[in-house]
Amino acid sequence: MVKELIHAVVVLPARGVRETWTLVARTRAAGWNSGRAYARTTLTNYYIRIRNRLVRRPRAACPCCGWSGYGFLMIDCGYFVVPEAECPHCGCHERHRMLHLYLYREQPGFFSARGRVLHVAPEHQVRELLLRNPDLFCLSTDYPRQPPNGFPGTMILTDLQRLAIADNTFDFVFCLHVLEHVADDRQGITEMWRILKPGGVAYLMVPFMLGWEKTVEFGKPDPMMFDHVRGYSPNDFHDRLKPFRYEEIFPENFLTPDEVQQYRIPRDSQVIYRCEKQPEEGSSGKRSDPSR
Ligand SMILES: [Zn+2]
Repeated sequence: MVKELIHAVVVLPARGVRETWTLVARTRAAGWNSGRAYARTTLTNYYIRIRNRLVRRPRAACPCCGWSGYGFLMIDCGYFVVPEAECPHCGCHERHRMLHLYLYREQPGFFSARGRVLHVAPEHQVRELLLRNPDLFCLSTDYPRQPPNGFPGTMILTDLQRLAIADNTFDFVFCLHVLEHVADDRQGITEMWRILKPGGVAYLMVPFMLGWEKTVEFGKPDPMMFDHVRGYSPNDFHDRLKPFRYEEIFPENFLTPDEVQQYRIPRDSQVIYRCEKQPEEGSSGKRSDPSR
């Protein structure tokens, strides 16, 4: 009782003051659209948290952690918002839920496979999924300026555009929501192709700007868009995957309409690119210049 009272009298008003101040600062710095995105996210998530506490018949479920409830939290993306995106229990987003379901349902052999995995710019949600197979050796890699983030296992700091890794080393690569931060994303894709063994598979996902006809280069990192250097269009992203034989996997390929709704995986924005390095390319394929 005392705890609830302190929460109501001290914590909530203090949080309200802090969030109001943030709203004013955001609106001043980045304009009304940005302030509106912050206000909408804050208020919606208050509402969803309350509904999640009171819910009796769950309408949303997270396959990653088993949570179920009223709904996922909204994400503030700077100038716009993504509703029903983040699990309030494990923090997974739509892409993590989709990858989790896809691997378990469509690639069950992955969890008993032996081999080496390169996890680019590791996220704990994907890391926990990979660690479910104890026979995989997982190496994480991130940009040199990025401080080591405390992930278990080996981590090397190296630029995706010129990986300090020998050719034909890995069986799998996981690279989710990374390429939109990379200045030369085509070179990054070529590097992933190079370090994969023939027959190896890269799982790629990128955020899409819905409604954009073509991919747009921003020219520099946009701080209001998580420092993305471009906005990808779903119409032309696949043009960049040339070194690979790739397959586009949409949620409806392996989920029922009810499951798409329950797991809140938007059909129009979530695509897994399963990219395979064809065996015959291993001997004759191009090799990136190691001096770069
Ligand atoms: Zn979860």
